[in-house]
Amino acid sequence: MGILEVKNVNKRFGGLQALGDVNLDIQENTVHAIIGPNGAGKSTLLNCLIGKLEPDTGSVTFDGQPVLGRKPHEINQMGISRVFQTPEIFNDLTVMENVLIPCFAKRDGAFRMHAVGSVASESDVMETAEKMLSDVNMLAKKDVHSGALSRGDKRRLEMAMCLVQEPKLLLLDEPTAGMARADTNNTIELLKEIKASRDITMVIIEHDMHVVFSLAQRITVLAQGTPLVEDTPEKIKGHPKVKEAYLGE
Ligand code: ADP
Ligand code: MG
Repeated sequence: MGILEVKNVNKRFGGLQALGDVNLDIQENTVHAIIGPNGAGKSTLLNCLIGKLEPDTGSVTFDGQPVLGRKPHEINQMGISRVFQTPEIFNDLTVMENVLIPCFAKRDGAFRMHAVGSVASESDVMETAEKMLSDVNMLAKKDVHSGALSRGDKRRLEMAMCLVQEPKLLLLDEPTAGMARADTNNTIELLKEIKASRDITMVIIEHDMHVVFSLAQRITVLAQGTPLVEDTPEKIKGHPKVKEAYLGE
């Protein structure tokens, strides 16, 4: 049984069937890519997984718990985090100030939930923030104005902010879209480092085949809202339908 199970998910927008009988079984601690042409339903699928959209029918289970019907913040608390195309950071703050935001939010949230006990000191919170920045190789840039960072480093900072919540599943919607090659490679390395340093499952939607083949252990090809094939990168590369439709060969 996978950590994330999607069963018979359907979603219509008026007369358009955006998702038709989507079945997915994502194995724990793998990197699973979802590829497919524009309009295939990739973002719609991701939005169904994080509670931004409600499918018309079907079920989604994470770690044995139903996901559908929960609010986005509840799904986030279950251990699912999402990374958007454009890094969600505050450009006017320094790198350290950005990471301190989720660190303090987490401390205060934990304090409210348990109501009693001691609250982590400010120096403990600073220590956590430094550890997170060190994990993504950004500690040396902690006092840099975030707006001045390269796209790749903005992605590193955003990942540090995201990892504060210790997600079990990370959903990435085209994390290298619009990036120059150097920033794309920086992001590939970042995701490899994160994967190697902790137990985490990643589902990545990506157009760039270089990124997909660098990271994924499994690939699902989505076409017109329905999975066409699911296999290893090697098999997908040689698959006649995929070659024809998506790899331009
Ligand atoms: P992808 O991410 O694979 O490019 P999307 O999931 O964004 O595809 O879109 C799938 C299809 O659903 C497209 O035809 C798109 O125009 C349509 N669609 C997406 N969101 C909406 C919406 N909120 N309302 C109506 N149609 C939508
Ligand atoms: Mg999309």
